[in-house]
Amino acid sequence: MLNYLIKILDFVYKKKCYFCSSSYENTIMCQRCYDAIEELPLYPVLTINGIKIYSCCYYAKEMQKLIRGIKYHNQKELAFYQAKFMYEYFMKIVGESAKYTIVPVPLHKTRYKQRKYNHMELVAQELSKLSGWRVNTLLIERIKDTKPQYKLKKVEREENLKNAFKVYTDNYNLDNLLIIDDILTTGSTLREIITSLQKSGISKITCLTTTTVCGDAINIQ
Ligand SMILES: [Zn+2]
Repeated sequence: MLNYLIKILDFVYKKKCYFCSSSYENTIMCQRCYDAIEELPLYPVLTINGIKIYSCCYYAKEMQKLIRGIKYHNQKELAFYQAKFMYEYFMKIVGESAKYTIVPVPLHKTRYKQRKYNHMELVAQELSKLSGWRVNTLLIERIKDTKPQYKLKKVEREENLKNAFKVYTDNYNLDNLLIIDDILTTGSTLREIITSLQKSGISKITCLTTTTVCGDAINIQ
C-alpha cells in the first residue's frame, strides 16, 4: 500500500531526492537523507601554524555523494545542503554573533574554465545567505596549475603546492577569515594557503572543511 502511494506521489511531484530517489518531499535532498549525515565532534581535527581546522563530517555516504554530485555531475542545487550542514556545525562552535569573511579555496583559471564553475564558490554563496557574511574571492589567487592531489604522496603534495597561491592584501578588509574547502586529506592545500596568508601579515584565520577522510587515504576523486 505504502509503495503504491509513493508511486503516485512520485508521479505528481517530479523532484526526486538525489540520494534515495523518493519524491514525497519534492526536494533534491529529503530530510531523512540530510539527517543521516553524522556530525563530527566540535573541535579542530588539525592545527597548522596555530590555525584551527574544523571538519563537519567524514567523506562518506550521503555527503560523499553530495560533493561528487556538485563537482562532477552538475548538481549545483546541492550546494545549499553542503553549506547548510557546514553552517549548522560551525554555529555550534562560534555562536550567532560571530562574524567572518568567507574565502573559498580557489581553482586555477585553467581548471575553472574546464569545470565552468568553482563548486566551493557556490557553497560560499549559500553559506553567505545563511550567515549574512560576505564572500571574498579576490583575496587569494591560485597561480600554479597543480596536478590533482589525490595522485600524489604527502611529500609530493607539498612540493606540488609550493607557491601555488598569491595573496592580494589590498583586498583584505581586516575581518576574521573563514577559509572553506570540501575535503581535508593531509591538509597540504590549507597549509600552503595559511602560510601564504601569514607571510602577507594576515593571521586571523579559521578553516572549515565539509569533510575529512579517515587515516591517510589518498585516493580521493
Ligand atoms: Zn532522500
